[in-house]
Amino acid sequence: MIAQDQESSPVDRFGPREWGPIALWLIASLLGLMAPFLLGDFSVSLLNDIGISALVALGLVLLTGVGGATSFGQAAFVGIAAYATAWLGRCEGLSPWLGLLFSLTVTGVAACLIGLATLRLGGHFLPLSTIAWGLSIPLVFGNMDSLGRYSGMANIPALGIGPVAVDTPRRMYYLIAAFLISSLWFSRNLLRSRPGRTFRALRSGSQLLASVGASSFAARLQLFVIAALFSGVAGWLYTYTNRFVSPSPFDLRASIEYLLMAMAGGVGYLSGAVLGSAVVLVAGNLLQDLLPLLSNRANQLDIVAFSLLFIALLHFARGGAMALVWRQWRRVKSGGARPVYPAAKPSLPRRERLQIGELLLDVDQISKRFGGLLAVDKVSFRVYSGEIVGLIGPNGAGKSTMFNLLTGTLGKSGGRVTFLGQDITHCSQRKIATLGIARTFQHVKLRPAMTLLDNVALGAHSRSKGGALAAGLSLNRQTEKLIAQDAAWQLKRVGLGGREFQLAGSLSLGEQRILEIARALAMDPVLLILDEPAAGLRRLEKKELATFLKRLRDEDGVTILIVEHDMDFVMNLVDRLVVMNFGAKLIEGEPGLIRASQEVQAAYLGFDVPTARGSA
Ligand code: ADP
Ligand code: MG
Repeated sequence: MIAQDQESSPVDRFGPREWGPIALWLIASLLGLMAPFLLGDFSVSLLNDIGISALVALGLVLLTGVGGATSFGQAAFVGIAAYATAWLGRCEGLSPWLGLLFSLTVTGVAACLIGLATLRLGGHFLPLSTIAWGLSIPLVFGNMDSLGRYSGMANIPALGIGPVAVDTPRRMYYLIAAFLISSLWFSRNLLRSRPGRTFRALRSGSQLLASVGASSFAARLQLFVIAALFSGVAGWLYTYTNRFVSPSPFDLRASIEYLLMAMAGGVGYLSGAVLGSAVVLVAGNLLQDLLPLLSNRANQLDIVAFSLLFIALLHFARGGAMALVWRQWRRVKSGGARPVYPAAKPSLPRRERLQIGELLLDVDQISKRFGGLLAVDKVSFRVYSGEIVGLIGPNGAGKSTMFNLLTGTLGKSGGRVTFLGQDITHCSQRKIATLGIARTFQHVKLRPAMTLLDNVALGAHSRSKGGALAAGLSLNRQTEKLIAQDAAWQLKRVGLGGREFQLAGSLSLGEQRILEIARALAMDPVLLILDEPAAGLRRLEKKELATFLKRLRDEDGVTILIVEHDMDFVMNLVDRLVVMNFGAKLIEGEPGLIRASQEVQAAYLGFDVPTARGSA
């Protein structure tokens, strides 16, 4: 299981080239290009509406499908940008591009402020808060004299690009298509990049991201602003398409319709945004034509029909229409097929390491209290560079809690921790990770829907740079290549080489633990903290893991602190052991000494010995 050979193996491409999707895209592009010549005025206007809505739905795919945050207020951002465009557009002689910049700035600032105020809300409170601002922003438009109150702003001059007046639906069509295609391209690049991986890991909660040195709040805020900016582009296009703005197209009902579009298309697919808005808008038009034939009071019945559609969707097709379309071409969806980089020895920056035997970690009298339970009681020990130290003790002794204290996952109730000479007692989990402490979790934290390569690449987050804008514009290819090479290398050395594009969810529990180790190694750690890494492994696999950990120490100079229950495994691996019982340190020493200790035997077998203190 653990690879012995460390040479790089060249792999050219993952999988054969898929001609089906390429042909489909070619036909679709040709039809798209010809559409304004083939269709009537009404249909071209409908396509324009679909394109504009698709931009908003695309933002929702990112925010909801990728980031896991539901927004019922996206139409408000369209409104902010549309009004900003209309307001500036009435001034004579100003460039519409300046208008675009202005409306995106206003939308971005508004999203930042709203995001800062609401994104820390957990559970159902975030969607509820989106309803609040989704309701109130259109109300503000309707009550401001300078924005024309409820009658809105009319007679906005047509958009002009150089000498060309973009004043007909046919001309707008190409502009909208260009923005939509660019936004899809931007989103696709973004999701495959360093910031994109943090977005895709958001659903696992903040601990996974903090453990690799990334901030989940920053990721969520960025995603929220990006989604709002897509709505902003839609708002700008809306104003120049209609040349009239009023509050009602930006109200809560519109927001819900955008959410329905994203869901109908499939929140797991970027292109689902386009398909979803097409389905919803075409269905809406059909209903408006058909319902009056059924009843002469049909003008509100479309809402009922849409509600039924929504419920049916939740029951029968949660993956959306795109899931059905792409079922045969599964690998084409975001994060799927792409070139494999040869696993190369890490070329990302590496950390400096201490000389063997220098003091690395000094744990001084640390405690943790959970209400009345003293889970860790004034425990002290030291770890020196180049050591493998085991932390053992019966279930509930406080080992995992100790690891959570050392990595900053939990706050300490008392004591002091020094790492590399720096006091890290009160440092955040993220800060501690960036200082060079990498960890795995007793309960594995991975993204099952991400590939092995992406899961490991997440670990390289703090060793690389590159923001969302550069990633979206594909200006980060060199960094991405280095990250992918490093991740492929880590996979290879833990024995998961050649399976880069398998989904992490398809691994056995034992393999998932190994994958977590690869992710931790991608952080180039000085100290590696492993919580029960051998649980779920077979005997031979355990032996290979022990060999690998020793080699890691010998060749890479990684110091290792490990919790493990399998005594054979531990005794043959570690240089020194710290034994905990009932939250306190029972004894510390070399494996031989621990094996012979009566206190330890009593603790494991449950005898009462004087030194084993009870919890408070
Ligand atoms: P070990 O890893 O040694 O098996 P833990 O560190 O997980 O033990 O747990 C030590 C004690 O602390 C247990 O009694 C456990 O129930 C308790 N504990 C751990 N985490 C929490 C928590 N978040 N809240 C309350 N009690 C906790
Ligand atoms: Mg534990």
